[in-house]
Amino acid sequence: MIRRVDLRGRVAAGEVSDLQAEVNALVPRAVFDVEKALDVVRPICLDVRHRGLEAIREYGEKFDHVRVEDVRVPADAFKTALEELDPEVRRAFEESIRRVREVSQDELTADIASEPAPGGRVTQRFVPVQRVGLYVPGGRAPLASSVIMNVVPAQVAGVPSLALASPPQKEYGGLPHPTILAVCALLGIEEVYAIGGAQAIAGFAYGFEGCKKVNLITGPGNIYVVAAKRLLLGEVGIDSEAGPTEIAILADDTADPAHVAADLISQAEHDPMAASVLVTPSEALAAQVEAELEGQVAKTRHRDRVTEALNGQQSAVVLVDDLDQGTAVVDAYAAEHLEIQTADAEQRAALINNAGAIFVGGWSPVSLGDYCAGSNHVLPTAGCACHSSGLSVRSFLKAMHVVNYSRDALQQVAGHVVALAHAEDLPAHGAAVSVRFPGEK
Ligand code: NAD
Repeated sequence: MIRRVDLRGRVAAGEVSDLQAEVNALVPRAVFDVEKALDVVRPICLDVRHRGLEAIREYGEKFDHVRVEDVRVPADAFKTALEELDPEVRRAFEESIRRVREVSQDELTADIASEPAPGGRVTQRFVPVQRVGLYVPGGRAPLASSVIMNVVPAQVAGVPSLALASPPQKEYGGLPHPTILAVCALLGIEEVYAIGGAQAIAGFAYGFEGCKKVNLITGPGNIYVVAAKRLLLGEVGIDSEAGPTEIAILADDTADPAHVAADLISQAEHDPMAASVLVTPSEALAAQVEAELEGQVAKTRHRDRVTEALNGQQSAVVLVDDLDQGTAVVDAYAAEHLEIQTADAEQRAALINNAGAIFVGGWSPVSLGDYCAGSNHVLPTAGCACHSSGLSVRSFLKAMHVVNYSRDALQQVAGHVVALAHAEDLPAHGAAVSVRFPGEK
């Protein structure tokens, strides 16, 4: 089942970019990637742009197998969903909301004022994006927890207008899954659309009958959602490419093989394209984890897609020379989720530059972060963790420089502005300053 990749003596610790290319070639992401999905979603997005709601209805019928006339969820559906929510699940959602809110509030940044010269002030002001479209997946599993991960930081950031989309469910009369609606009710979100996939992203990006265009789209999704976000970047802002889930685990002999296997399976459960990668210098651990996978996969509920994910080229047990090489490999791989289960997990975590989120030690599994750690589970995939961050309050804020110079402060620096303007052959730039100080050189 899961393949083995033996990197012992093979991966050179050279330039970072060389190592990334080498690791990506040996442990590649899924065969069907964003580039290929772009060809699928391009016509969908164009169609939604030109035909709006009618195109959205047709793609819902095609991909979600239900035609929804009124895609805006009616107010009474939220109330009913909340009343019918299992009280134990409600308590768990409320605890998750509390923790994510506390972490988000701690992230809020005050404006930053600087004075690079007397009387010359530059303030960095943080303002919320005005209208945001949040995507909550609902193809294979109704990811109600993603409502929390999107909505709470957006609310803490102060976004005044929030809309949410999630695929229509045939068995619920074309509404999004009731658990998703119940969490919307807990968080006071009322503008919700029963739309999934690329058609939801395009609907938000262009607007359609009854839904105003948004400025930013956030949230996770499958490869089609990711491709549509990439395609429409510019028309709207996006968070990161939060696509099919990935877990990399760096482990040594001190790790419990049953726990490691359970964690690999937990993320493979999301999607046949999910990647589960174990990196270890221990042949003994590798063999024990492989044996555990056999036993645990046979018993897991979604064994078909777990098996497909684990058998795919994107999943592997990777043998390395030692933990230092392993650390370099996981850092180059830039996983969405990185677990470190080694004797020196905390020190090793400090060496990592590239990961969506790091889970340190044996008692911080990714499932905890998926629901109740207080961290955000919308995280960059496919190597994007080397340049992007997971969703947070910052994703919903824009920083603006506010420049405020006094007459004296401008006069002090006027000569430099004029010199630089001439150096760039843009004399009108210089004139806009010197005109304010007639008679001065
Ligand atoms: P989804 O809501 O993302 O996608 C369902 C939609 O995909 C459907 O509504 C449909 O419109 C569209 N679709 C399906 N097949 C299509 C096709 N052949 N052509 C065009 N469009 C098609 O739900 P999902 O499929 O369950 O995927 C959820 C994804 O979210 C998983 O890959 C999971 O790993 C990922 N996820 C990522 C993160 C993260 O932060 N990176 C977090 C949670 C979940």
